[in-house]
Amino acid sequence: MERFQPLESVEDVEEFYSAIKREKMTHKLSPERPYCYWTIETYDKSNGIRGGGGLGVLAADMRRVAEQLSVPFVLVTPFYPWESHQRMEDMKQIDFHTEQHYRDYGFEFIDTVRIKTSTTAVELEVIEKQLGSSRFLCITEPNFGELYSGESGSDHRLYQEVALGFGGYQALKLVGLRPAVIQLNEVATFFAAVARLDELVSSGMDFYEAVVYTRKHTLYTNHTLVQAAEASFNYSQFEQYVFPNIKSVAVRRWLSDKFTNGRIQLSTPTVEIAELRSGVSKLHARVANYHDINGNKIKFKSVTNGIHMRTWVLPEIMEYFYDKNILDKFDLPPEEKLEEAVNAVSAADIRKLKLAGRKKLNEILANRTDQYGKPVQIPEEALLFDFKRRFVDYKRPWLPFENPERLAEILEQNNAHYILAGRVHMGDYRMFDRLMKLLHLIDKHPVLRERVHYLPDYDEELGFALSVGANSSINTPIVGLEACGTSWMKDIANLGLLISTHDGGVADMPSDNYLSIKGKTEAEECTELYRQMEAAAAAWSNDFDLEYWVRKELVAYLAIISGSRMMKDYLNYLF
Ligand SMILES: *Cc1c(COP(=O)(O)O)cnc(C)c1O
Repeated sequence: MERFQPLESVEDVEEFYSAIKREKMTHKLSPERPYCYWTIETYDKSNGIRGGGGLGVLAADMRRVAEQLSVPFVLVTPFYPWESHQRMEDMKQIDFHTEQHYRDYGFEFIDTVRIKTSTTAVELEVIEKQLGSSRFLCITEPNFGELYSGESGSDHRLYQEVALGFGGYQALKLVGLRPAVIQLNEVATFFAAVARLDELVSSGMDFYEAVVYTRKHTLYTNHTLVQAAEASFNYSQFEQYVFPNIKSVAVRRWLSDKFTNGRIQLSTPTVEIAELRSGVSKLHARVANYHDINGNKIKFKSVTNGIHMRTWVLPEIMEYFYDKNILDKFDLPPEEKLEEAVNAVSAADIRKLKLAGRKKLNEILANRTDQYGKPVQIPEEALLFDFKRRFVDYKRPWLPFENPERLAEILEQNNAHYILAGRVHMGDYRMFDRLMKLLHLIDKHPVLRERVHYLPDYDEELGFALSVGANSSINTPIVGLEACGTSWMKDIANLGLLISTHDGGVADMPSDNYLSIKGKTEAEECTELYRQMEAAAAAWSNDFDLEYWVRKELVAYLAIISGSRMMKDYLNYLF
């Protein structure tokens, strides 16, 4: 799936920096002083780490883009010794766990570091894997557990976060690196900034100077919309897990002051220690509702997420984009004349490329099973709709099934299939129930049973397969609740037609650039969704409409989708 041809020559790297108008970057970022990215979640199974969703995909894509563009980059993240999977039994989702060994994925053991609790010390293994200008720097130990195990706000979560922050910072020292900048991917990584502050203060820097210095070089990236939804910890949890790792009394006191009524939300000290703050789409940066300890609203700069295109786009389509000058060698679309280049995309080319994508999809589907435990194959001449994302309430996976007869009619009349792929989070009993009800509804309906396929254990492989092999994807978050989303980017970049509500990164551009679902009520949105499914089906049987929509999507969104554009935006903001 990964096809890297990183920029090889120094000239190429300089050319990239100059293309994004960041000359002299080679002085600011170097192999010894890299861009350091902290994340509790990474989604990169080819390197042994399975994530949960978009937050992890973003982290993995940041590293891939850095590698491709030869940006010195360190991804500091846990290597989880356990990961969770799902399979179906009697149309129920069953969770199971598998053990993971880092040596199976080419990681090298470096040494151990220690973090402290009030009663004991925990030894963490530091492991590393270098990939071009980038590397994974991971901490792990046999009892580290799995991603998001335990309740948020629990002791184990705090332990994982402390281990990643303080342990990860020691790991960085261990391999001889000094961070040029630290990016905190959500507040679970906050302790990395504390570790840095504590190091500066305990090596003699004045506390306020150290705060100013740390603030200037720390970027906090927020993915959540409401602060109220964030977990909190109590003081005694901090006494047990956090304070024993802080040497400086001043730093400990600073952190103690951030408690109100005996509890702390990590976003409160995070916004103080990070002068740079970003949200992951224009809409998200505008509406994220965060306040500092004095009650002032926090401003976020928008850096819309992108994807690593060479990972997520069918190689034949990437070749086509290069060939038609739709993407340059940095995977950036040209600033001028993109529209002209995209106007050369013909319906015949789209159909040919999507056929290659369908073949790829069927290859991957041959090794997966549906809700009945059987492999699925989608005929080459059939139309395919897909909905692929985590099964969480606000994404509304059930929306297309609100009127089963209408859905059945659309699928039958257009010789269409519908693939639903997603995972219910462990412990989300409501969604678990909704999924079961949905599967029973499908089972009882003669048309839906033939044409709707549910694929459990949603992962990167399925995400890729459906992006390349489906004709039209459905994205129905409740407007205002999706921070960005990146699945829709994979769909557009693979020449599919997007049907979506106007939310997250989709809303970076006006709604006439894709098949938009409008409506003031859920019932109205539902009617619109069916209408747009019919519009998508009609476009796939009409060359003029197909060209119109594919071109429109590419012109509007290609720059947003490009992970290189995202890297450019971050470098611009950071330096
Ligand atoms: C792309 C991708 C995501 C991102 O999902 P969104 O719902 O668009 O945020 C999540 N999980 C997997 C496996 C992916 O491939």
